[in-house]
Amino acid sequence: MKISKNKIPVVLIASALGVIALVVSQLIWMRYSWQLSEQIFNQRVAMALCSTIENYDGGKLCSGGKCSMKNDEGLFAMENDVNLPTQLLSIPAFRSELSKSLNFHQINLDYDLSLSRDNKKQSDVFQSIIMLPDSNGQNRETYLKIAFPNKKAFILKNMNFMVIATVLILSFITGVLLLVNWSLVKQKRLLQTHVDFFNNMAHEFRTPLSNIGLAVNMLSKKNPELKDNQLIDIIRRENIQLLYEVERVLHIAGLENGDYALQKENFLLKKQLQSAIHSLTMPIEEKQAHITLDAVPDDVEIYGDKQHLGSVFRNLLDNALKYTVVKPDIRISAKKNMQGVLISFQDNGIGIPQGQKDMIFEKFQRIHHGAQHNQKGFGLGLAYVKNMIEMHKGYVRVSSEENKGSRFDIFLPIIS
Ligand code: ADP
Repeated sequence: MKISKNKIPVVLIASALGVIALVVSQLIWMRYSWQLSEQIFNQRVAMALCSTIENYDGGKLCSGGKCSMKNDEGLFAMENDVNLPTQLLSIPAFRSELSKSLNFHQINLDYDLSLSRDNKKQSDVFQSIIMLPDSNGQNRETYLKIAFPNKKAFILKNMNFMVIATVLILSFITGVLLLVNWSLVKQKRLLQTHVDFFNNMAHEFRTPLSNIGLAVNMLSKKNPELKDNQLIDIIRRENIQLLYEVERVLHIAGLENGDYALQKENFLLKKQLQSAIHSLTMPIEEKQAHITLDAVPDDVEIYGDKQHLGSVFRNLLDNALKYTVVKPDIRISAKKNMQGVLISFQDNGIGIPQGQKDMIFEKFQRIHHGAQHNQKGFGLGLAYVKNMIEMHKGYVRVSSEENKGSRFDIFLPIIS
C-alpha cells in the first residue's frame, strides 16, 4: 500500500494510539486474570478447610453435623480468650489433616492458623465455624481462621507464564510498530529530498532553456534567411519540449510540497483546447495528425485554473500524439450537464494493456510498449493530470483497447 507524504503523521499517531490501546487492553485482561486466579485460590482454601473439619476426628468439629464454611473476606481478630482450647492448633493429627487437604487442593504455602470466638472480619483471612467446648465443657461456635502471608506472590507465580507471554507479545508488537514508523519517517525524509532535488534541478534548467529559446528567436529574426532552416527548427522544437518537461517537474514538485494555490477564473473551454493544440503544432505537423474539436460546444465555460487545465489538455493531447504510431486521429468532445462538464480525448493509438490502466496515473510509472513504440518521458504527465483534476474536485478515467486506441475522460464539476 502506498502512503502519501501528508498521511504519514496520521499513520504515526494512529499506530501510537494502537499501541496504547493494546497495552491498556492487556492490563485490563491481566487484572481480570488476577481476579480469576484469586477466586480459584479462595475456593480451594475454602474446600480444604471444609474437608479438614469434616474429616478430622470423625467430624467432631462440625457444627450441627454440617461444615459451615466462610471464606469471605473478614477481619482477623486475634483473641486472648483463655477459655479457648487452643491446643487444637498444635495437635499433629489436626495439622496433618489440614496440610493434606491444602496439598490436595494444590496450595503449598505457609499459613497462620488461629481460633477466635469473635466473628470480626479481616481481608485475606478465611474462617470456618467449628464446635469447641468452653471452660464449662459446653460446645460453642468458634472461628477457625487461616491466613496466607505469601498469597499474592503465590498467585503471581502461577500467572508467570501469562505475564511473560504478555510482555513478550507487547514488546514484539511495539518493536514492529516502532520499526515501521521509523522507516516511514525515513521514507518521508527521502521523498522530501527527492522532491527538493527535482525542484532545484528544474529551476536551474528553466532559465538557460528560456534563454536558448529567446536566442533562437532573435537569431531567426536577425537572419530572415534562417527562418525556415531545419536545424533552427529542431533547436526550437527540442527547446520547447525540454521547457515543457521542466515545467511538469516543477508542477509535480509544487503539488508534492502542497504549496499550490489554484487561480480560478471563468474561461471558454474550446479556446483553451485550441491553444493547447496550437502549442503542439510541430509534433502535429510532423506526425500528420488530425485533431477534431467539432464535438466541443463553443459556449461551454469552465471555472478553474486556466493555466493548469491548459497544461492538463496539452498533456493528454501530447500523449495521444506520442502513443499513436500512424496518422493520429484525435477527437475531442465535451458534454455539459447539471453536475459539470465531461471532456473526452479519443485517439487511435497503441492503447494500454489491461491491468495497467490504474498504474499510469502514478508518478514515474511508464508502460513498456516494446522497442518499436519506445517513447521518451518521465512518467509524470498523467500523475500531474490526475492531481490537478482532483484539486478541481473532478476525476479522470481511462478506457482503452490495445492496438485500437484510448479514451481519457475528464470530469470537472460546475463548482470546483
Ligand atoms: P510519459 O508519457 O512521460 O511516459 P505519462 O504519465 O504521460 O508519462 O504516461 C504514463 C504512461 O501511460 C505512458 O508511459 C504510456 O505508456 C501510457 N499512456 C499515456 N497516454 C497514453 C495514450 N494516449 N495511449 C497509450 N498509452 C498511453
